[in-house]
Amino acid sequence: MYCITSDEIRNIFLDYFKKNNHMQISGSSIIPKNDPTLLFINSGMAPLKTYFTGEEIPPEKNLCNIQPCIRTIDIDEIGDRHHLTSFEMLGSWSFDNYFKEDAIKLAFRLLTEGYKIPKEKLYATVFAGSEKLGLSMDQESADIWKEAGMDPAHIVPQPFEDNFWGPTAETGPCGPCTEVFYDTGEEFGEAYVPGGHFDTKKRYIEIWNAGVFMQFNKNTKGEYENLKFKSVDTGAGLERLTMTLNKLNSVYEIDSLKPIVDLIQEEMKGTEVAERDVHVMTDHFRTSTILLAAGVQPSNTGRGYIPRRLIRKCCTIIHKYQVENFNYEKIVDKVIKHYAKYYDHFEANRANILKMLQQEISSYNEILKEGIQRIEKICEKSGDIVSGNDAFVLVTTYGLPYALVEEYVNKCGKKVDKEGYKKAENHHKEISRNESAHDKDDSQISNQELKDLESSLEEIVETDFSGYEKLSCEAKVLFISQNGEKKDTLAEGEKAAVVFNTSCFYAESGGQVADTGEISNQSMTGKVLDVKKVKGKFVHFVQVEQGVLKCGDQLQLNVNGERRTKIEANHSAVHLLQYALREVCGKDVKQAGSLVTDERLRFDFYCDEKLQDELDVVEKLVNKTIQQNLSKDIKLTTYEDAIREGALAFFENKYGNEVRLVSFGEISRELCGGTHIESTGKIGLFKILSEESVGRGIRRITAVTGECALDYVQSELKILREVSKKLKVSTNQILAKLNSFDGKKQVAAENKKIQLTKEEVSKLIKQSSGNIKYVFYQEDEFVENLNNEAIRIANDIQGVTCLLAVADQSVKIAVAVPKAMTKEINAGNILKKAVTYIDGKGGGAPHLAMGGGSNVDGIKKLEEDFGSLF
Ligand code: ATP
Ligand code: MG
Repeated sequence: MYCITSDEIRNIFLDYFKKNNHMQISGSSIIPKNDPTLLFINSGMAPLKTYFTGEEIPPEKNLCNIQPCIRTIDIDEIGDRHHLTSFEMLGSWSFDNYFKEDAIKLAFRLLTEGYKIPKEKLYATVFAGSEKLGLSMDQESADIWKEAGMDPAHIVPQPFEDNFWGPTAETGPCGPCTEVFYDTGEEFGEAYVPGGHFDTKKRYIEIWNAGVFMQFNKNTKGEYENLKFKSVDTGAGLERLTMTLNKLNSVYEIDSLKPIVDLIQEEMKGTEVAERDVHVMTDHFRTSTILLAAGVQPSNTGRGYIPRRLIRKCCTIIHKYQVENFNYEKIVDKVIKHYAKYYDHFEANRANILKMLQQEISSYNEILKEGIQRIEKICEKSGDIVSGNDAFVLVTTYGLPYALVEEYVNKCGKKVDKEGYKKAENHHKEISRNESAHDKDDSQISNQELKDLESSLEEIVETDFSGYEKLSCEAKVLFISQNGEKKDTLAEGEKAAVVFNTSCFYAESGGQVADTGEISNQSMTGKVLDVKKVKGKFVHFVQVEQGVLKCGDQLQLNVNGERRTKIEANHSAVHLLQYALREVCGKDVKQAGSLVTDERLRFDFYCDEKLQDELDVVEKLVNKTIQQNLSKDIKLTTYEDAIREGALAFFENKYGNEVRLVSFGEISRELCGGTHIESTGKIGLFKILSEESVGRGIRRITAVTGECALDYVQSELKILREVSKKLKVSTNQILAKLNSFDGKKQVAAENKKIQLTKEEVSKLIKQSSGNIKYVFYQEDEFVENLNNEAIRIANDIQGVTCLLAVADQSVKIAVAVPKAMTKEINAGNILKKAVTYIDGKGGGAPHLAMGGGSNVDGIKKLEEDFGSLF
């Protein structure tokens, strides 16, 4: 019943590319290795990135494979004709070898001859160019398509957004691409007329990205410069090819998906299940099985969140149609059976897949039950309308889909305040955005929260701050706000922004972090996690631990004193550091910013040069002022008087009429609103951790004080003692010992690379006595990529390559022979002869041999003789 099966499509693809000089490599796991930028492998090229960047050398210049892919980005498309969250990609690549012409002609031939697609059905998009970016149209690809046999009216220019790939970062390789679409017929929409709209959503289905042509490097100036090393990346979706080649309406009708659809329909028998729901379940159960088989554990964050989200969606659909005892085991078995043909880990993990799925389903069913009870309770207490915030809490806390919440609320004869829900959701999104942008955790008030509060706080008087003198006080709750909504009470476990009439909590300012601590009265206890200032009002981020917090409550506030002392020690140390820097490096040193926490201090200052030996002098001077135990003096005065007294004020125009002058003895006078230790001796010890540049002309010192400084010194000394034990010398002889190890060379080798350009290589090519091409090249330092580079050049020139790296009195040598030539020539044998010239030894395989020696003077003769060694 299928004209062509997906198995046949796979085989035709691989056979075709293998016949056309492509080496087949295996697909990778869907879990990326060493690539933190990706949640899952989402294309055939993703696991091969390092071949494109040149960091690694591909085993051959042309490759092909089949790669399982996961695309979470398409989750919202699921249920349409052609998007799946998991699919297999048929891929082919050329690295620094063939380019547009071969790629397009290979694609056209495979489609029309291999898969026998009538060419009237095929369309190709090409990059239309971008005037703004100075990129011209990819006319070359258009011409090649025409020449290959594509109807010129079926060549569709598309803009930058659709047909230009990369770079993946600000800069890097990128280029135009050309994609092949299949015309699924007039029942799916209007025909394309040149210059008109090209409907890629319904009628024309993309089957193959037949060439991402990496031909440019986008540089830091934003210009597209030509790449020396050009490459081609292509990818076709197996499921879409199977759908179109069999003229089916959607991917759900193909041989690998239809049996799952049938099973689901059987399980849903007797209900009026919508087709789209069946398709969503088909996709989601299938992808979940693939994810669980790869060892992804459902969880609330990162990778694990995807199977959780997919499985929960399936449960919600089953629940919606009130289907009991849905047999998902049969579905999992179908998926396993299909993939077991190609991948070993499916069968092997069957028990584990089922166990995880079962756990996930039953725990979600519990949540659903609880959540529905909660909806009912909320409905009881609400009027006709359930508030947006309540609905949002149900969605986020219970993980209930909004549609389900709405459905149940409606069943209770009430309505959800949709506007309010949207507001709460947007508010939450904004917070998450701010938090991720500032790398914050949920123990801090977000900027959005503060912005939302601003207008509500207008009627409240400025907070009276008593925290300079004391660490506890009594205060009255004036205002509670959660997710931008004013509240009268705050229940156990909940977090909200709270304003009191007075506070002893220091609010974040002047680089000093906020205090934390506790609040309580007879009926409640809670924590203060963060404090910020909004127009003079202190906003406390409070979490209730026990009981209920109410507006109007009288409370006891207690600052965490131990933490405050550490912060104060670090803040005072910043003042002493500033003094010391100005003493040692000159009065031009000026504060550019600072950060003071209980764990460390950071001081940014204007200075053009890196501090070298001065750093030790500065550190000593700060410690000297600590030993002098200078007492703190604080007075309120006018700006002019303070400056007259020699105070440092670095933020011009930022001070009011009355300023706070903080002094330590005669040496340090600064205008500062922060809190400080009574006398410098309390700092105990000051230790610099690092000195670095953070911008042009700005340097940063990070340091620790007191116990943290001692911990740091002790742990560094411990490492030193361990090293000394391992090297079997006393600590003061470690350096001498390391130097004697030749350690320096190793370090240098780790950082250095050679990379000969094509031109350089071509100048080096010689002929051996047996008429074989070879390259002999010496680098005057150790490099880390000697072997790889030898292989690369050998493959490039299709000849023998000998690379040497020389440092001090030692030589490293690598000899490479292209694999195709190893029947006649053996790199190991050549190397054995070569090392006799340099008094060395070594060995290896027929295509690559490595060695080392100590006679640098022998290299000259080796070079003369090298062409006669094979
Ligand atoms: P679309 O615009 O249709 O989402 P795309 O441009 O994102 O496709 P590419 O990134 O170029 O697709 O991927 C190469 C090929 O992989 C596509 O031509 C298609 O055949 C297949 N493919 C991409 N996304 C999916 C998907 N979600 N489900 C099934 N196949 C897909
Ligand atoms: Mg896409």
